[in-house]
Amino acid sequence: MKQVLRVFIGVFVICNGHAQSEEDALKYVQGITKDELYDKLSILASDAMEGRDTGERGQKMAAAFIQDHFERLGLAGPVTSRTSRGYYQTVPLYRAIPGNISMTVKDETYSNFGKVVYYGSNNSNGAKELEVIFAGRGSDADFKQIKPKDKAVIVMVNNPRGWRQPNALAMEMGAAMTLVVTHKNDEGFDAYSQLLKNYLSSGRLKLEKPQSNSEDPGIFFISPSVAAKMLNTTVDQMVEAGKTGSLKKIKKGKFSYKTEQGVEEVMSENVLGYLEGSDLKDELVVLTAHYDHIGRNDEYIFNGADDDGSGTSAILEIAEAFVEAKADGKGPRRSILFMLVTGEEKGLLGSEYYTNNPVFSLENTVVDLNIDMIGRVDPEHKDNPDYVYLVGSDRLSSELHEISEKVNSTYSNLELDYTYNDENHPDRIYYRSDHWNFAKNNIPIIFYFNGVHDDYHQPSDTIDKIEFDQLTKRTKLVYHTAWVLANRNERVVVDKIQDQKIGNN
Ligand SMILES: [Zn+2]
Repeated sequence: MKQVLRVFIGVFVICNGHAQSEEDALKYVQGITKDELYDKLSILASDAMEGRDTGERGQKMAAAFIQDHFERLGLAGPVTSRTSRGYYQTVPLYRAIPGNISMTVKDETYSNFGKVVYYGSNNSNGAKELEVIFAGRGSDADFKQIKPKDKAVIVMVNNPRGWRQPNALAMEMGAAMTLVVTHKNDEGFDAYSQLLKNYLSSGRLKLEKPQSNSEDPGIFFISPSVAAKMLNTTVDQMVEAGKTGSLKKIKKGKFSYKTEQGVEEVMSENVLGYLEGSDLKDELVVLTAHYDHIGRNDEYIFNGADDDGSGTSAILEIAEAFVEAKADGKGPRRSILFMLVTGEEKGLLGSEYYTNNPVFSLENTVVDLNIDMIGRVDPEHKDNPDYVYLVGSDRLSSELHEISEKVNSTYSNLELDYTYNDENHPDRIYYRSDHWNFAKNNIPIIFYFNGVHDDYHQPSDTIDKIEFDQLTKRTKLVYHTAWVLANRNERVVVDKIQDQKIGNN
């Protein structure tokens, strides 16, 4: 009797819940407003945030702003560390940087990015001495005249980028290292050296710690005066010998060098806010957007208002609406994770870190709705701005696609444009934002996107160009979709895994 009664009550509660659900969704969507989206975006896209570059001060400020919002809403911080629970999931990132590098010729030592520049990732493990011979312009004919085995070779190239072919020949013939003279005079080289310094000191951030390369010695770019000193000759004589191919006229010399690969560690953060569900709380709906951007340079700040200040503001607003509903006893049945991820611009690093180190089991993660750029109208839609591009809704779950369409026709009536969902579209958007890290784990996703525009990754991606009416409508669409996915009886089926093609962004 007891058993039967419980079943009966259960059914009653669920049906009752459903009868109210549509009405409730419409009630709490009113909490998502243009003004509140503006308030949030005006902070995230302000100059004070310095373009929110991954690992930099502006990104930390944006993270603090998001955490503060979650805290005030009363969302839980679900990330457990040794000492506490919190909103931040620390994402350790690495970049390769030049370590202790120098070259010594006779009694003079040159440090890296002065008269010499090392390009490579080899550790010499202390000073190494090498004999060096002149290889002219580094052509086949030049290399036939010399015996480069176990020696360093000096080549003079006409174009700074023209070193690969001569270096490949030198390595083929067993040379120990290639020294490349890129310029005819030291002034030209000095300027080039500074350019290389900027380039080689700001390597790409990665999740894996960079390893030094023990196979490839790398190369040194050297100034013409250093080359001449090494070979006991003059720059003019080297140029002449290179031109005429009479390499024997230049005697061999020697030098010593040190190379070392350095590693810089950069700490960044995913920011997570958790709203616990009711009877289906073990299942999770995830909403994501990336809150970092590409930072600033000396002249400009890249505010990233659309990319992805728009998506970040949307997630914060949606969180607020769900919290209000829960406060009135209308909380979601499934739990919801609101996650603003870092490192998207550097290669989807924050979302990859999360799916490699999930805070909630990926098996119980029902769906990821990901937003990246929903505040603008692209040139294709300037006459019909009530649209949004959807990507991925049909890739893993036919049901998800149907739900998404139905939600739109019931509540939003936007034109859902599937141009970028075409598997053959050259932009390959399905693989290019954070949802991919969920999709590759067979978690169904929908990606919301306004398409590209001239201000993409430009300092001109500013808040004054945001279409707040569109941003508001699209935010509401994501909210309604999340509402249905969090409240329906069954989790969306995954029935199309075999159709998903694996690709890289
Ligand atoms: Zn983006």
